[in-house]
Amino acid sequence: MRRSLTAAEALAVVLESAGPLPLERILVRDAPGRVLGEDVVSGRTLPPADCSAMDGYATRSEDLRGAAEASPVTLRVAFEVAAGASSGSAIAVGEAARIFTGAPVPRGADTVVRQEDTSREGETVLVRVAAPPRENVRPAGEDVRSGDLVLRSGSRLGPAEVGLLASLGRSEIAVHQRPRVAILSGGDELVEIDGDPAQGRIVSSNSHSLAAQCREAGADPFYLGIARDTPDDLEAVLRRGLGADVLVSSAGVSVGDRDYVRPVLEKLGCSLVFWGVRMRPGHPLVFGRFGERGPLVFGLPGNPVSAMVTFEQFVRPLLRRQLGHSRIFRPTLRARLAEDFRKKGDRLHFVRVRLEREGAEVVARSTGNQSSGVLRSMSLAQGLLVFPAEESELRAGSHATVQVLDESFFAGDEPGF
Ligand code: AMP
Ligand code: MG
Repeated sequence: MRRSLTAAEALAVVLESAGPLPLERILVRDAPGRVLGEDVVSGRTLPPADCSAMDGYATRSEDLRGAAEASPVTLRVAFEVAAGASSGSAIAVGEAARIFTGAPVPRGADTVVRQEDTSREGETVLVRVAAPPRENVRPAGEDVRSGDLVLRSGSRLGPAEVGLLASLGRSEIAVHQRPRVAILSGGDELVEIDGDPAQGRIVSSNSHSLAAQCREAGADPFYLGIARDTPDDLEAVLRRGLGADVLVSSAGVSVGDRDYVRPVLEKLGCSLVFWGVRMRPGHPLVFGRFGERGPLVFGLPGNPVSAMVTFEQFVRPLLRRQLGHSRIFRPTLRARLAEDFRKKGDRLHFVRVRLEREGAEVVARSTGNQSSGVLRSMSLAQGLLVFPAEESELRAGSHATVQVLDESFFAGDEPGF
């Protein structure tokens, strides 16, 4: 087991341990947020035929030469084509077809005149513009041609991709499986959310924040419960998580007498890969693996902020990789610091900060008390300021990297038009 890695070393070790999970076939309507596991080649041409972009009259551009407000051209309306009709009939010289948006342009016609530029008079129509060829015509294949590579394996499926797959008639597609994450909390002081927090007991908030972090990452958490601070109970609860892709426990990984997570994991056959990351919060992080078939294991520190921050830095990128995402990290930005930030020691710090826009810049200020027990500071923070290991001071007015945790920070209060 390696000891006391830098955060970058620890992350590299974690990410080396897993790639995208195997594929499963799902319904396209369940696909938003998932990552495509196959190249999608279109078997269809869309639109399948030249079709009208307007309600109006399909005709021959040649017949419209010289048409103008003062000298309209008169055409015979031969027939009508509605959206969904087949493009069977043809128009002849001097003729037009009444046509609606989305309907196939009939044979013989090469242009569509908007209804607004015409006047209907019984069986004839007066056209007041000389529409050039292809005006208001959506050519066949304008969107997709049969044989086109429409979506690449690894694409994130959003609403547009789901719509595109639907338009190709693909009701099912292959995506990477979502990692199943077993969540376990350890500690004699812990009670469940509706338990009685009397006599020094506290609610196991980590059970909830970590499950929520899994969901936000796109993974599928399941809760194993609270393990008491005895090797036997911890072993019994951990065993229930051995079928997961990833096992995330919190607490019991430090150097206390009752910190049994490491020895119990080893007893169960887990090889511990590293213990300790030179960061704050989150130093006592443990990472291990159960050979080929068992889960990857994170023993996160118990303090609520340490658990969340180590999840952010190591568990989330791993889950995103397992889901098949090519970009696995949070967005970062360079923020101007509204105040001085100081630290002691040579660990990398993640400082909880509020973010605000000021003109073209983003300004970061501390959420206040940075104790790893102050969970409210995570709720107040929009980001984590990356305070490099080798620095001891970041001066007000200087710029530093911030990981944006709360992507609603980018949400606007102006429509943008
Ligand atoms: P430990 O790692 O067991 O020494 O725990 C460190 C701190 O985190 C202690 O103050 C624990 O009470 C707290 N803690 C541990 N587990 C949880 C949890 N599931 N929810 C909230 N706080 C916890
Ligand atoms: Mg404990």
